[in-house]
Amino acid sequence: MNSDCIFCKIAAGEIPSSTVYEDQDFRVIMDINPASKGHAIILPKEHAANVFELSDETASKIFVVAKKVATAMKEELNCEGINILQNNGELAGQTVFHVHMHLIPRYKDDTVTIGWAHKEAYNDDFAAIAKSIAARIK
Ligand code: AMP
Ligand code: ZN
Repeated sequence: MNSDCIFCKIAAGEIPSSTVYEDQDFRVIMDINPASKGHAIILPKEHAANVFELSDETASKIFVVAKKVATAMKEELNCEGINILQNNGELAGQTVFHVHMHLIPRYKDDTVTIGWAHKEAYNDDFAAIAKSIAARIK
């Protein structure tokens, strides 16, 4: 636990939150500035600033929690889809530096914008990139 970290305090229950799910490793809360109705965030109780610091154990469990909560959200909210996403680093849109996963329900005609422009003229050598990344996988 990092005493300077607001998500550590929320995950530990020291700061009250609207909790939708809790187990020994995670607390799932309503996002305070939701992108859409029901937007939730999954907070590991373990402090890790981002995915690079996250333990393999917590990493292996977080998507199971995402599936569990997303299933309940889909039933309850009648949304047509859910974006499950996670930002690492300021440039990637991370604003709170305690790793968390977003569950963003999507509704017809919502004004949520998530996405990227596909680069038509992107001409990097895919095989070379794949090979050089593969060489670093531990
Ligand atoms: P990110 O930009 O991926 O780091 O997401 C941070 C998210 O945390 C944003 O969607 C914020 O609205 C949300 N957030 C920040 N502070 C709180 C808080 N005290 N309680 C609930 N959600 C929060
Ligand atoms: Zn933390």
